[in-house]
Amino acid sequence: MSLSENLFERAVKRIPGGVNSPVRAYGAIGIAPRFIDHADGCYIYDVDGNKYIDYIDSWGPMILGHNFPAIRESVIKASEKGLSFGCATAVEVEMAEFICERIPHIDMIRMVNSGTEAVMSAIRAARGFTGKNKIIKFAGCYHGHSDAMLVSAGSGVMTSGVPDSAGVPKGCTEDTMTAVYNDLESVRALLESSQGETAAVIVEAVGANMGVVPPKKGFLEGLRGLCDEFGALLIFDEVITGFRLAFGGAAQYFGVKPDLVTYGKIIGAGMPVGAYGGRKEIMEMISPVGNVYQAGTLSGNPIAMAAGLTQLKYLYDHQEIYTELEKKGEKLYKGIEKIVKDRGLPYHLNHIASLGSLFFTGEEVVDYSSAKTADTAAFSEYFKGMLAQGIHMAPSQFEAMFLSAAHTDEVIDVTLDAVKKYFE
Ligand SMILES: *Cc1c(COP(=O)(O)O)cnc(C)c1O
Repeated sequence: MSLSENLFERAVKRIPGGVNSPVRAYGAIGIAPRFIDHADGCYIYDVDGNKYIDYIDSWGPMILGHNFPAIRESVIKASEKGLSFGCATAVEVEMAEFICERIPHIDMIRMVNSGTEAVMSAIRAARGFTGKNKIIKFAGCYHGHSDAMLVSAGSGVMTSGVPDSAGVPKGCTEDTMTAVYNDLESVRALLESSQGETAAVIVEAVGANMGVVPPKKGFLEGLRGLCDEFGALLIFDEVITGFRLAFGGAAQYFGVKPDLVTYGKIIGAGMPVGAYGGRKEIMEMISPVGNVYQAGTLSGNPIAMAAGLTQLKYLYDHQEIYTELEKKGEKLYKGIEKIVKDRGLPYHLNHIASLGSLFFTGEEVVDYSSAKTADTAAFSEYFKGMLAQGIHMAPSQFEAMFLSAAHTDEVIDVTLDAVKKYFE
């Protein structure tokens, strides 16, 4: 038995499913997850001494690669002063200024501890600001695990939400309406049916939690227009896309201005950080200025801020990284697509910048229902075949591959060879 298998046996006895977040369990794959010992650059090493090229990148935060020296140093330095004070610190001001001065649609920002918290709080702010209750989300978009956001497909458009999870009372989701990604008419229909009672439309500006599903041309612009027409706020959930597609995230990449933005993942550089920000008059609804309550004992934690700010500063000062990630994305994802096409397989590859997904389906994937046509059993085999060749990807058909600045052209070639070998 490998050390990973042994750890997993122990883990399942004391942690539900053996993991602290479900997708780590390799549930869809049917093997024990790899327990990780350490990581460096684009490589991750498990407790059995196996080395993998990593395309999870901690689900996005490691855009500069694992164990990035400047970030590691910033954490060590900050930790020498104490881990948390529960009081205001200078680094929080620096973080807020750094972001607000560089991202035009953010006047004010509040730090929290996760993407889930960021979304939950942004929605509360939107409801407080507009005095309305209804929220429109899109089937297949993930916005963390707060009650109101655990609504997805299943519930068709025009019907009120049905919770995906047990333990979520119907009352918590009845104000959540589900639209179809890339389908503006489905959004208009919900806005009309809610008769001016929609507080906000929340969207992953690039769908990345049903596999990668980029917005069609005009979709985000259309959402902006509909929100203005119906007096709803537009929230971009940039937990994945923020500081990844561009420094200013999807909003900058597509040139569409949201009212509120949520961040997570990259903003903490691997530390538990989330944030939400946007227009001043909305953010001033938040306590202690306004009467929308939101708080956090460890929010703006100085170690986490040091790590996050170091990463953001590096990214801002090295924006050529974004051009390089585009090129690397073209090489990797177009490369995989070609291998698949050359073999006459009908699969579809969706990609944008550093994000990509190979969908094991003959259908073009533009929304949740087309994503769900993917053959997850075929994906599992592919995943195992790649893992056996030292390529570490998310163990689910419905997740993205994440490229980082540490993935070199040579590493991408090695990856493409492994893909070729698998399909042979
Ligand atoms: C990961 C993710 C979240 C949730 O963030 P956590 O830090 O896991 O709570 C929210 N929205 C999107 C788009 C995400 O990818």
